[in-house]
Amino acid sequence: MLIPISTAAFQQQAQPEVLFDTHPETSLDFNHVRERLSQGYDKPFLLVDLNIVRQKARRFQAAMPRVRPHYAVKANPDRRVLQALIEEGAGFEIASIAELDLLLELGVPAAEIFYSNPMKSRAYLNYAASKGVEWYVIDSIEELQKINSVKADAKLYLRIDTPNIGSDWPLAGKFGTHLADIAHIIQEAARLKADLAGVTFHVGSQCRNPQNWRVGIERAISVFGEMRKAGLDPRLLNIGGGYPVRHLKPIPSIEIIASVVNEAIAELPEHIQIIAEPGRYLVSDSAYFICQVVGTATRSEKRWMYWDAGMFGGMIEITEGLNYEILSDRSGNCVPWSIAGPTCDSVDILMRDVMLPADIQEGDLIYIPNTGAYTTAYASNFNGFPLPDVHVVNS
Ligand SMILES: *Cc1c(COP(=O)(O)O)cnc(C)c1O
Repeated sequence: MLIPISTAAFQQQAQPEVLFDTHPETSLDFNHVRERLSQGYDKPFLLVDLNIVRQKARRFQAAMPRVRPHYAVKANPDRRVLQALIEEGAGFEIASIAELDLLLELGVPAAEIFYSNPMKSRAYLNYAASKGVEWYVIDSIEELQKINSVKADAKLYLRIDTPNIGSDWPLAGKFGTHLADIAHIIQEAARLKADLAGVTFHVGSQCRNPQNWRVGIERAISVFGEMRKAGLDPRLLNIGGGYPVRHLKPIPSIEIIASVVNEAIAELPEHIQIIAEPGRYLVSDSAYFICQVVGTATRSEKRWMYWDAGMFGGMIEITEGLNYEILSDRSGNCVPWSIAGPTCDSVDILMRDVMLPADIQEGDLIYIPNTGAYTTAYASNFNGFPLPDVHVVNS
């Protein structure tokens, strides 16, 4: 039996700085992949080990005992993943009513579901309110007024702008009240007698700078002071998502991030409820993505390979700069390859000049670890290609 060869310049050695994670990440046992493939291969699939999802939830909770994780459903909305997280005691964060329905069907109480999308349509708000959702984010006067007109007794939390320095996907700018606008929103909430009861921030996805959480928490605490002065009753701190997983670059461990967070929240009184919204952290390591080379070509002496899953089939984060480790059963000399998906769209190019074995051929399977987050959730049927399957082990 062939053993997959790590073809990227992948280093698992301990990093010299204490800042970086030397904790060996668990990732799905490759024997599960072999076992699944012994039943044949017909299309791309994700293989998720639910025990790893459970382990990650426990590790998160052990690192930050005062912070309850509310999983960001968008990272991987598979029901079996959600069920495993329910069993671990997680709450949830949603962006749409389809995500809400999924959770309600699984028996999650509406009170444990945080509606954290800063832009919600009136129709979605009506629906969420009718289902009993209590907590809603705002980051503008307009959203405050909209929610207040739909559900006057909603519990609201204000998303403030925080630095996204050191995050692979900075979000600052699109969402988050700027510091200069916070006072105005607080005044309007007081005038409307709205229950503006908390503060949140998002440091950006795959955030490698723990100090961003410290800055966010310090700003939140100062906003609590402003809220109290206006007669409001702040009682929720939501420290958002962004906890990183290890691909090819070093990351701070969850324990390192937790030491910063735990210190920053140490003085907060007991009645302040503290939650976080991890997405990627809880699910990414748990899975392998498996796809197949549908063909190769040589163009002006450059090698190209075409996979049956490209940016429309689950691999879109590659195009945003995520360096996945790519494994194959080949062990030939490495040469530069360009990799594209199966569709005819010119944007469906995943990588250029990545070093992979020269002898990769049509029909070879490609194995990509650490793909449980933001892969299948992004896939579309564009150009008639099927959505990847999701299979699980240890359910
Ligand atoms: C996407 C998202 C998250 C999860 O982010 P990760 O980087 O996957 O941890 C958390 N909160 C909100 C509001 C989000 O939009």
